[in-house]
Amino acid sequence: MPENFELLAADLHSKARRGRLSTAHGVIETPAFIPVGTQGSVKGVSPRELRELDAQIILGNTYHLFVRPGLDVIKHFGGLHKFVNWDGPILTDSGGYQIFSLAKLRKITENGVEFQNHVDGARAFISPEIAMEIQRALGSDIVMALDECVPYPCEYDYAAQSAEMTTRWAKRCKQWTKENAERSTSNAQRPTSETDSINSQLSTLNQLLFGIVQGATFENLRKASAQQIVELDFDGYAIGGVSVGEPEEEMMRAVESAEPFLPGDKPRYAMGLGTPPQLLEMIGRGMDMFDCVLPTRLARNGTAFAAAGTLNLKNAEFILDKNPIEENCACPACREFSRGYIRHLIKAEEILGLRLITLHNLHFYLNLMNGVRTEIERGTFDQFRKAFVAEYKTRDAVTVE
Ligand SMILES: [Zn+2]
Repeated sequence: MPENFELLAADLHSKARRGRLSTAHGVIETPAFIPVGTQGSVKGVSPRELRELDAQIILGNTYHLFVRPGLDVIKHFGGLHKFVNWDGPILTDSGGYQIFSLAKLRKITENGVEFQNHVDGARAFISPEIAMEIQRALGSDIVMALDECVPYPCEYDYAAQSAEMTTRWAKRCKQWTKENAERSTSNAQRPTSETDSINSQLSTLNQLLFGIVQGATFENLRKASAQQIVELDFDGYAIGGVSVGEPEEEMMRAVESAEPFLPGDKPRYAMGLGTPPQLLEMIGRGMDMFDCVLPTRLARNGTAFAAAGTLNLKNAEFILDKNPIEENCACPACREFSRGYIRHLIKAEEILGLRLITLHNLHFYLNLMNGVRTEIERGTFDQFRKAFVAEYKTRDAVTVE
């Protein structure tokens, strides 16, 4: 079988890597930023606009899609790609993170998680096998193993037991995938109805399965978790349980503790991160993929990203400002509109205002990754990272919740 991940260049002065990940719906050049489409939509932005912004891949939240509209609806439309009209790669999380953060938890056992969803309170149960089944039905290109994401702070003993359970769950996810890959091949040859045919098309997809390293803020647990997850041999490895409220140094240390134990020839995904400087620091520590709600979430409260830090466009200083959000930015908002006008839209609560800032912010993140890829190829990433981080900190950054 051909390798899914190709390493194209490595930085000499840091652990930054330039790679290429092939999926059933196309290639992802890494380092890559993944816009978050929580409920099957990157908030306020259409798939056509995402393509124009050169987004390579989007993320869908399994938990949200499972709760609403539900799997039957998505299956009826032939899977998530068709339902949302995005033909590029899609990564889905396992649902674990949202179950632990949003749903009313009933019980976590070795078998799985019982919860009541946050929409109508209906009870549901997700096991490692069910998480795989749901993501198979969604038809995502990159599937995440079910893990337990512990909160911060977390007691050592709980973190240790939880990381070990995450390993056992990862093993079950891997096992389910292996068994159902075999079964789906035989099903595919004899579809008996339209639904069967759709199901067999979905199940024969070449889905990549990523394992998730846990271990909270404890170095030895991160190391042990990385070793155990790698032992199971996944298509890629994620660092989970970071950016859950811990100080930035602890976040960096969690990644540094796990990274040396991840194989160099597989993609690494730091989940749920982060600010632009954090992304560069993570890339310098050997991470390849990132997803984060910040560009879209902050846009909705009037905050725009710029090379010199964030701008709060609600501020009075922008009332008469004829400049674009950022000079020389090629995004649709900066090409056509002034800070003063966008400020007015935000103050007047016009939808266009948050849409324009969202487009700018996504462009900022995606363009930053594009620049990073070039810098790694040129061997100048480390200087670029230092200069960027120093300039970014010249302005007071917003508090990131
Ligand atoms: Zn812009």
